[in-house]
This record gives sequence, structure tokens and C-alpha cells, in this order.
Amino acid sequence: SSWFSKVIEGPPIEVFALNKAYAEDTFPNKVSLGVGAYRTDEGKPWVLPVVRETEKILAENESLNKEYLPVLGLESFTKAATKMLLGEESPAIIEDRAFGVQSLSGTGALRVGSEFLAKVVGLKVFYYSKPTWENHRLIFLNAGFEEAREYRYWDPKNRNLDINGFLEDLRNAPENAVIILHPCAHNPTGCDPTPDQWKQIAEVIRERRLFPFFDSAYQGFASGDLVKDAWAVRYFVEQGFEIFCSQSFAKNFGLYNERAGNLTIVMNDVMEIPKVKSQITLVVRGMYSNPPNHGSSIVSYVLSNPKLFEQWQGHIRTMSSRIIEMRKQLRQHLEDIGTPGDWSHITSQIGMFSYTGLNECQSEHMIKQHHVYMLKSGRISMCGLTPSNVEYVAQAIKETVT
Ligand code: PMP
Repeated sequence: SSWFSKVIEGPPIEVFALNKAYAEDTFPNKVSLGVGAYRTDEGKPWVLPVVRETEKILAENESLNKEYLPVLGLESFTKAATKMLLGEESPAIIEDRAFGVQSLSGTGALRVGSEFLAKVVGLKVFYYSKPTWENHRLIFLNAGFEEAREYRYWDPKNRNLDINGFLEDLRNAPENAVIILHPCAHNPTGCDPTPDQWKQIAEVIRERRLFPFFDSAYQGFASGDLVKDAWAVRYFVEQGFEIFCSQSFAKNFGLYNERAGNLTIVMNDVMEIPKVKSQITLVVRGMYSNPPNHGSSIVSYVLSNPKLFEQWQGHIRTMSSRIIEMRKQLRQHLEDIGTPGDWSHITSQIGMFSYTGLNECQSEHMIKQHHVYMLKSGRISMCGLTPSNVEYVAQAIKETVT
């Protein structure tokens, strides 16, 4: 007998199960379009040259040591991250109403932020887009939120944003609900609101007294432009909203396993900041005490060095343009071979993922028949496409939908 004999097996996590199946597949032309991680034209992971360079500089700096970081993290990092998100000219930065909390990548920022909102502020209900990144629900529920709700987002018929459904669901939300928003490169649909639609969303959030929690996992990675990808967040701040925003440096810095992240908090009243900081300190202290140093010190170093910053911006343009190019090629091949249906959404969507419009049955067929690994929802990671496999994938889609 065991203490654990009553434990029942939990459901598998789809992307990780998919990866395992891909790894075990011996078919030579197999294609992995599951996990969201950047790949080069050769299908290889990419450590950004600016990261390698910075690691060497930091490794040789003998004045650095391995002492604990403060509970809220490396201040040079959180300041640089907050500035990158909001922009130097942001009223919140000028008025000293914004600060950052270092976190275990984007996931950790969501978790620390939601635990503070649930346990300290006492909020109970949160909304996420239908569909969303599968982890939002688990993070917020584990953090102490009582009720998860969805707002309409994706219109499968038009393969576009269901803005009316979205606004209507916000209008019907109870006061004090937290609304998780993707500022750019919506995961999984690749479909973002336009600036005009963001203005409508902001209006309802204000009217209904809802709390906006942005989840910024792709700043710079989506369009190649840090300012453009932060537009929605900056708009809310200019409009005087208090916001939380989780930031991940997994994608834009290629630091997936270093867990470099930040929670940016924008508040109205400077006098309230020390109280909030003290409570977040307790949240973090009871969760993991203090954050890791390696990834955050790389990010901090690059963001505060103009030459390296320039070089890094070149890298995010390289990554985003490769993805945009693969979108073009996939659509072109699909159309050239006469695949039934309209494929314009492939190029109008943005970011790492595309919602192909394939249904569950078709997505499973893609895996079983063609060894093209993708999520049941029809989501593919654009990063897994390369000039050498894109034609094969287009052929597989054609055969599947015909
Ligand atoms: N939010 C969204 C929407 C994401 O797509 C991701 C990464 N898949 C994350 C947050 C967080 O990832 P990480 O914890 O690796 O930064």
C-alpha cells in the first residue's frame, strides 16, 4: 500500500504528448508543428548570437556572483522590461506609477499576478478568450480564482475575430472580473483586434469595471517591431487604466528554458505602490522565495546596452520575417495545387501560430496519414515550417481537406 494509491492519473498535456509521439515517429519526412518554439530555415533551434555573446561577457565578469536575488528580482531587469513594454514616454513611467516583478517567465508572471489578485485583492471571476493558450485556466484556478469563464473570440465560419460576441460577453461580465487579453499574436488563433476594436474593448472594460490583465508573450516576435506589438498595452495605459501585464522573454530572446519573465504593474496612485509591493513580496516568498538570475541578467544587459539592443532587434526581425515568409509560402503552395477553400487567413494571421481551420478529425488525419504533428484544434506552429517541408505540408493539407 502507498500514500498515493488513491491518486488518479491526470489528463496528458496535449503539446507534450504530441512532441513525444513526434520524437518516436521513424518516418523520414515527419514534420513537427506542435510546440511553439522558433526554428531556423534548417529546422533547428536558435540560440540568438547576442545571447551567446552576452553569456560570455557575463561569465567572464568576476565581480558577478551567485548570491540570491531580491524577492522581486533584479531591479535593472524589471526596470528595463517595464520600459520595453510601456515605452520611455509612457505617462506611467514618467509619473513613476509602474513597476516590475521578476518572474519565472510568462507563466510565472501570470501565476504571481493572479495569486495576488485572488488572495490579496479578493477577485473571484476571470475570463479568457475562447480559445486561448491552454494554460490560462489552470494558472488562474490554481492561484485561487473561483470561477473561469470564456469570452467569444474566434469565429470559425469567417476564420476571423468575433468582435461582436467578444464585446457582448464583456458587457455581460460581472463587475470586478479579470479579463485576460493577448496584446498581440493571439495564441492559438494568430488573429488580433484592430486598434479600433481595441478602443471598443477598452470602453466596455471601463464601463463594466473589469480588470485588464494582459499576457504579452510575443512582443517584437510578432511584427518585428517592439512598439507595434505593444500598442494595445500602451493604449490602455494612456487611457488611464490600471493594468497587470505578464511578459515572457522565451520567444523574443529565445530563452525558453531560462524562465526570464516580468510582471509589469501599472497603478494610479503612487502612494499605494509600497503596500502592493509588500504583498507581492509575500506571494513570491511563499511560492519560490526569489527568482533565477541567468536569463534575466542576459535580458537586462542587452536591453541596457545600445549596441547589443540594436543587434537583438535585428534578431527579432529575422525571426518574425521568417515566419511571415513561411505564411506566404504555405498559402502560395496551397493555392497553386488547388486546395479547396479560402486560405487567405494563413497570411492575415500573425505570430507564431496559425489556426488552419482544420477540424479535429482532419488534424488527426494529418498526424496519422502524413506524419505532420499539429494540435487537435487545427493549430500549427509556423516555426516548424521550412522551405524544405512547406510543400509537403501543403500537399498533406490538400489531401486531408479534399
Ligand atoms: N502566454 C501565452 C499566450 C503563451 O503563448 C505563452 C507561451 N507558450 C506564455 C504565456 C508563457 O510562456 P513562458 O512561461 O514560457 O514564458
